[in-house]
Amino acid sequence: MRKILLTLSILTLLTTQACKEPQTTESVDTIIFNGAFYTADSIQKNVTAVAIKDGKIVALGSTEDIQKMASEKTEKIDAKGNFVMPGIIEGHGHIHGLGSSLVSLNLMEAKSWDEIVAMVAEAAKKAKPGDWIIGRGWHQEKWNTAPQPNHMGYPYHESLDAVSPNNPVFLSHASGHSCYVNAKALELSGITDATANPSGGDIVKDGKKKIVGVLEETAQRLIYQAYETWENQRSEAERNASWAKMFDLAEGECLKNGITSFHDAGSNFQQVAWMKALADSGKLKVRHWVMVREGYTNLKTNKEAFKIKDAGNGKLTVQAVKVSLDGALGSYGAWLLEPYSDRKGWVGLNTFNIDSLKAIAAFCWENKLQLCVHAIGDKANRETINIFAEQIQKQPSSDHRWRVEHAQHVNPSEIPRFKQWNVIASMQSIHCTSDAPFVEKRLGKERAANGAYMWKAFLNAGVVVTNGTDVPVEKIDPFACIYAAVTRKQKNGEAFYPEQKMTREEALYSYTMANAYSSFQDKEKGSLSVGKYADIVILDKNLLTCDEEAIKSTKVIKTIVGGKTLYSNQ
Ligand SMILES: [Zn+2]
Repeated sequence: MRKILLTLSILTLLTTQACKEPQTTESVDTIIFNGAFYTADSIQKNVTAVAIKDGKIVALGSTEDIQKMASEKTEKIDAKGNFVMPGIIEGHGHIHGLGSSLVSLNLMEAKSWDEIVAMVAEAAKKAKPGDWIIGRGWHQEKWNTAPQPNHMGYPYHESLDAVSPNNPVFLSHASGHSCYVNAKALELSGITDATANPSGGDIVKDGKKKIVGVLEETAQRLIYQAYETWENQRSEAERNASWAKMFDLAEGECLKNGITSFHDAGSNFQQVAWMKALADSGKLKVRHWVMVREGYTNLKTNKEAFKIKDAGNGKLTVQAVKVSLDGALGSYGAWLLEPYSDRKGWVGLNTFNIDSLKAIAAFCWENKLQLCVHAIGDKANRETINIFAEQIQKQPSSDHRWRVEHAQHVNPSEIPRFKQWNVIASMQSIHCTSDAPFVEKRLGKERAANGAYMWKAFLNAGVVVTNGTDVPVEKIDPFACIYAAVTRKQKNGEAFYPEQKMTREEALYSYTMANAYSSFQDKEKGSLSVGKYADIVILDKNLLTCDEEAIKSTKVIKTIVGGKTLYSNQ
């Protein structure tokens, strides 16, 4: 402890000196100078340069002063007037889902069902008999024409059967909350027209009780099981190797987008073990903060996994639990207080047993773990806050940093309750502008105006609002998300309830310091401050001053993690 204090005071000394005239004789490893800096640190304004040693920031100041700290051995990065900011933290994404999306069919841009069928046909031609054809990202609201025939806008699976009779097909909805499958996948999963809906799930059937091909929420588990049976035929080494390949691609995608830290919204213990092995061998590039997604019994018997803190030199921390209480709005899974405006009598799906969630909440409270509950609908948000409050009231002043993931559609009366119980609203600005075309259809005007994507109202109430993309639900691109945060503009250019816009500073803060705070890592990262990790990005646009429309075309020039340049486009 004394050593840490001593180091800190030396570092403080270094900064104070750097702001005047640095006296240190010790050379630094890297300097970045001539930058237009956003530090996210209220004390460190008017900075144009930074000095780095042993992976951490040791000084910030003027270019002239910082250059004096360099020796011949020092790496000198001229930012050439470009924008320099703290490494971007993805506040809610799915690292394994991102990896697998990079090796499967990408259906995000498909403008019609026919386009998707053609992609599956192409994949089926190349596949070995029995191989699964996996795709991700379709969204019926993005199709220009409705498929014929259809049920509720969904096509029938026969169109897929025609092009892939022998290969099971699994196409995940953009939200991840429903999937589309063919007859072969249904057969392997044992699903027939007679199969009853599982609790919290829907096997979508038409008026004649015929399976359409869409499985919502927990109904997808039957397909997962069939897929796992196929996967488990491979050895653990083979499975680990293909996971590692996807993981590596995912980290590459992060670095390319300026992401130096990633909050993973749901790894199982197997994935945690694989990540830990990479951390221990010094192979993790990005800093990962993981929410474990497992059932209550598994959580209790694997408590050891939660001792992972800053493994691999600050690259892996596992001290949070994720539970999904409902689904997504697009796929009618968000759990609402009142029925959907465009599906009579339907209030969405409660996808996790309330008593089990209460037990997990008590477990997290006892073990000082962060609890992160996915809640999209207003009913799911209300239930979550109720369950949180039951634990937090035991010690209301405690620093728990429990989070509601998404907090998308809230009853206005819930906002002060977030503040009352100090709950973090872990939101994703890009969901607002992507969902906007169907929000009024699903919720009606009143609920859309008063309760949808209320990030400014949360901020005004003093609630911490974080940011991220929920990748692979959306692209990982943080600049598209920041653009959404500050404009609320949909693709057609219309702003969705613009009074809820963030300022540029608020948006940048939400992606840096707020995200660091929401993982108990605000002392180590989130701002450019002396003593913190040298996680830094250099961008080709000044996100504070550039033209609003230019934000979305921002390009990353360099991504630096722990003082090392891990991505450079120059
Ligand atoms: Zn998610």
